[in-house]
Amino acid sequence: MPIVVVLSLTTFLAWYISGNAGSFPNSWVPNGHTLFLFSLTFGISVVVVACPCALGLATPTAIMVGTGVGATNGVLIKGGDALEKACHVSCLVFDKTGTLTVGLPAVVHTFHLHPSISERECAILAGMVESASEHPLAKAIVKYASEVLSQANGETPAAFASPENVDIQPGFGVICTLKSASFLEYAKKHKVASSIRPNHDLHVCVGNRKLMQQEGISLPESADLWMKKEEENGRTAVLFSVDRIVTSIFAISDPLKPEAREVIDYLKGMGIDCAMASGDNWRTAHAIGRQVGISNIHAGVTPGEKVDVIKQMQRENQSVGMIGDGVNDSPALVASDVGIALGSGTDIAVEAADYVLMRDNLEDVVMAIDLSRATMRRIKYNYMWAMVYNIICIPLAGGALFPSTHLQMPPWVAGGAMALSSVSVVCSSLLLHAYKRPVFRVELTGIKVNSSYLGVSDVNLEGSLM
Ligand code: ADP
Ligand code: MG
Repeated sequence: MPIVVVLSLTTFLAWYISGNAGSFPNSWVPNGHTLFLFSLTFGISVVVVACPCALGLATPTAIMVGTGVGATNGVLIKGGDALEKACHVSCLVFDKTGTLTVGLPAVVHTFHLHPSISERECAILAGMVESASEHPLAKAIVKYASEVLSQANGETPAAFASPENVDIQPGFGVICTLKSASFLEYAKKHKVASSIRPNHDLHVCVGNRKLMQQEGISLPESADLWMKKEEENGRTAVLFSVDRIVTSIFAISDPLKPEAREVIDYLKGMGIDCAMASGDNWRTAHAIGRQVGISNIHAGVTPGEKVDVIKQMQRENQSVGMIGDGVNDSPALVASDVGIALGSGTDIAVEAADYVLMRDNLEDVVMAIDLSRATMRRIKYNYMWAMVYNIICIPLAGGALFPSTHLQMPPWVAGGAMALSSVSVVCSSLLLHAYKRPVFRVELTGIKVNSSYLGVSDVNLEGSLM
């Protein structure tokens, strides 16, 4: 704006002084006008035509339309800052559980170690404790416990009442001091025999190796071997202990999101490095990493260490985006340049993020970055257009062509031209509505058609669809 005022004053003074000095004939000044009014008209036209409306509209209109397009495609964008940063992202760090995997884990195998407490008792206790946690693994254990009970009794069990003294440790698991009376009451109601003493405080832990180490609970070798085998197959083994003795292990499988592999490939094609930061153990994280094509893996990291991973990358001059869903991801979502949360994630993660993927589909990560780039391109284009417009119109309004054409741009025409430029910038921003999200190739492989009618035995169809 100050530049515009200076330009306008300069125009006015240039015409006025040169008129007084007799640099142009008096006949140039229209009849009934003084030299002052004649010069002032040029000055006013310059202010009006250069009023930086078009420049001022270039960014907000594009951001408004960009965020609107994001919302219709299931991506909530929290402001222009986020959009700008997302288009410069050079590395994306993925959380594993609930982000690369569907987040609907299920207990697929169990390993029972202690004869003095039955499998059913373990399942009930674990279900009771985990009902206090929002973690996807906790939900899998609660579901498993309900299934064990309904299989035993043939009836749907009552919901587990969440115990009081629960210590939820993100990235580790859950510790609880449980009154045996409340457990016995539940067990009796569901006709599960129990040898647990009444009036006794049970110390129950459900979590990973780190939780057990922290609590000083030792892990028998047979349990360790069993866990390793499960982990190498991409499953998460959750340890369960009662009164500091490991009594059960639950192997939990969480299938990969079907689009995960392709999304990672696509992101790499866009020049973005992909990494994984998971609180899960090394073997499970690497098994999942192999399946999706991520080799830069930080496994067994606590929520604080996820932040360190992000900060280290930022020190290496990377612009880092973090994608996660859990409470454990929230500090990293805040620390990263662009935090992307899954809509189904915990409220804290959604609150901490700059982008929210409402449909939980990883393809929307690609779309979010692609849309940010498209919006930034549109802003640059708007600026260029507004600049070109000003470069042409300011000299015209200032009377650059007056000596040869004797035509003066009156302020109302300048006003019209200014409005037209604003409208053209708004229209240019609205063109973002034509944005098309990136298309993924869907592979159909291994479909078997038994075409005995055709006199041919099993036929394998392999194809691809754009
Ligand atoms: P991720 O980073 O993959 O989302 P988390 O940081 O949430 O994983 O959890 C890391 C690990 O901590 C889990 O793999 C599990 O072993 C353990 N854990 C965390 N919360 C729980 C829970 N509620 N019950 C059992 N184990 C848990
Ligand atoms: Mg997670």
